[in-house]
Amino acid sequence: MTASNERPRFATALEEAGQRRQDELRQRRLRPLRWLDDGRIATGDDDARALFDFCSNDYLGLARDPELAAALATAAREYGSGAGSAHAVVGHHQQHQRLEAELAEWLQRPRALLFSSGWSAALGTITALLGRHDLCVQDRLNHACLLDGARLAQARLRRYAHGQASAAEALLAAEPERRALLVSDGLFSMDGDYAPLVELAQVCSRQGAWLMIDEAHALGVCGAEGAGSAAAAGLDSAQVPVLMGTFGKALGGFGAFIAGSELLIDTLINQARPHLFTTAMPPAWAHAMSAALRRVRGAEDLRQALALRIARFRTRAKELGLPLSDSLSPVQPLILGVSERALDWEAALYAAGYAVKAIRPPTVPVGQARLRITLNVRQPLATIDALAEQLARLHDANPAPLAETDYAS
Ligand SMILES: *Cc1c(COP(=O)(O)O)cnc(C)c1O
Repeated sequence: MTASNERPRFATALEEAGQRRQDELRQRRLRPLRWLDDGRIATGDDDARALFDFCSNDYLGLARDPELAAALATAAREYGSGAGSAHAVVGHHQQHQRLEAELAEWLQRPRALLFSSGWSAALGTITALLGRHDLCVQDRLNHACLLDGARLAQARLRRYAHGQASAAEALLAAEPERRALLVSDGLFSMDGDYAPLVELAQVCSRQGAWLMIDEAHALGVCGAEGAGSAAAAGLDSAQVPVLMGTFGKALGGFGAFIAGSELLIDTLINQARPHLFTTAMPPAWAHAMSAALRRVRGAEDLRQALALRIARFRTRAKELGLPLSDSLSPVQPLILGVSERALDWEAALYAAGYAVKAIRPPTVPVGQARLRITLNVRQPLATIDALAEQLARLHDANPAPLAETDYAS
């Protein structure tokens, strides 16, 4: 047998794709960092050159909370470093069960189920619920894991214009014969705005569809006791039958869960493949996430400190004439148009001591590259003022008005 000389080569394909990424300014690289005690980010050995964090999702500062770190260390001594297997074999420990019960109580749902990440919660849940004959209606700007879930399920995926409940209703109404799941982020990760949750729930009720809300960015940030955007909108388990949350944003940890009815959770335990076939999170970790959950529920002090910082940034940015969006959340996008401009601003801000991320396609639509500025409770108010002034200097130096077409998606 002779080796084929015609078979396309991986090395060639990968090099070409890499070159295209470079040309289109889509290349990403990883920078190892250290967190300093004051919350700044050091990227080298020189602490004096550390950056202020305006890009993490650690809105309440809990990823660096000494008490939570101590809870994790104590739990690791007690329960070890691993779960031993997947939940359905011998990996479901008492610490998992307790965390699930606390989540259910917090979110006023009959039951909750842990997953190892938001990504696997989304894939597992959507593929367990939908098959190729079912309809999945999603907001155009939903997180990638929600869209991929529908694709993996081979469901009929229809996307509606961002935040337009009437457009979602039209898609559902067009195919009344199909079982349907409407899926939306609660708080959108790149735009910082909230989904029209009450309207979406009404649409689902009229159209006989289930509503799934991904609360990744909203948990801890809004709603009574930080219970998220569905709670803030007063929506219960009947109105939002599938509630997804993660520990990786305001809870300062890692991992995720789905909350809903006994029937839903029993289905997921038996049919969600990323639950069935993944090693359970370490029980010590579940214990630490219980501590984080309790901290978040009682964290009115932190939510107020966060609200103060959001208001401060928006006031300063408005005074300085910056192109703010309507976001009232800790995610404050400045839409700059082309990737080049966003990357230029990112570099200038890094040089000035601020870690702010340029977000480019394919994460956001072409023409909507932006700076995604996030606020967190560790930022001194004076630093927020200084960032706004730095942004204003960039804006004044490069005041090119955004073309209307830059906003078209
Ligand atoms: C971060 C995020 C996820 C993914 O969660 P991980 O636990 O990080 O995998 C899912 N959905 C949304 C909206 C997110 O922002």
